[in-house]
Amino acid sequence: MNDPTRSPSRAQPLQVSQPAHMPLVLIVEDEEPIRRFLHATLEANHFRVKEAGTAREGTLLAVTTYPDVVLLDLGLPDGDGLNVTRAIRKESRTPIVVLSARGQESDKVAALDAGADDYLTKPFGVGELLARLRVALRHANGAGSRTRGGEDSPYECTLDGRTLRVDLSARLVHVTDKDSCQSPGTRREVRLTPMEFKLLAFMVKHAGKVLTHQMILKEVWGPQHTSDVQYLRVYTGELRKKLEADPAQPRFMITEPGVGYRLAENRVMQS
Ligand code: CA
Repeated sequence: MNDPTRSPSRAQPLQVSQPAHMPLVLIVEDEEPIRRFLHATLEANHFRVKEAGTAREGTLLAVTTYPDVVLLDLGLPDGDGLNVTRAIRKESRTPIVVLSARGQESDKVAALDAGADDYLTKPFGVGELLARLRVALRHANGAGSRTRGGEDSPYECTLDGRTLRVDLSARLVHVTDKDSCQSPGTRREVRLTPMEFKLLAFMVKHAGKVLTHQMILKEVWGPQHTSDVQYLRVYTGELRKKLEADPAQPRFMITEPGVGYRLAENRVMQS
């Protein structure tokens, strides 16, 4: 009778209640004005917030308060965010979004390689901050924005009228272009070489997440190839020619300058 999932006809009382679960964000940042700004912004957007100003405190709170996501500054007075990332990763899979200043490119990459999930370069906008947190939370909840089905449900993303669909279990890749508002679009199968498929499959499994050059090379080509960045340039170039409407303006396989690549987030909501 009180089942909140099935009472649209008498929905009145639901509107005043808080969201069922307000995610907890742990902010690890030593600069107080930034911390205060983040705290206020997140609370206004229905997050709960905990704060730490040092690496030591951040590590402690990350493993004792069970945050849903950690926002981690890289430059901390008593150590760097890299060590915090490693320490958290020993204990938990909590998503970590790294905050870095411009010029901390190598630190940012090292943090991602150490297990951070994403990054924001200061200064960043509120919209970007919230979007990154939403993606991180979706990843933590299991399967991107996919519905049930998990691992086996296909990747699908529509951007600017083009849909990219990747079915890993069937090893099928399709693109559909909408010619006009009226027509349903023409769907065609894309043929990939085994290596192109392997690269795309790895990105599909981590869609929406930043993958560093090193992560991709290690996973797709093997540990002995982690510095062969030219492989990536060649293969992403080939994939873009096959998948993107305009390979010079990629929408699906996005370059993260100086860091790596990100495949646009899976947007299948129903399937
Ligand atoms: Ca700092």
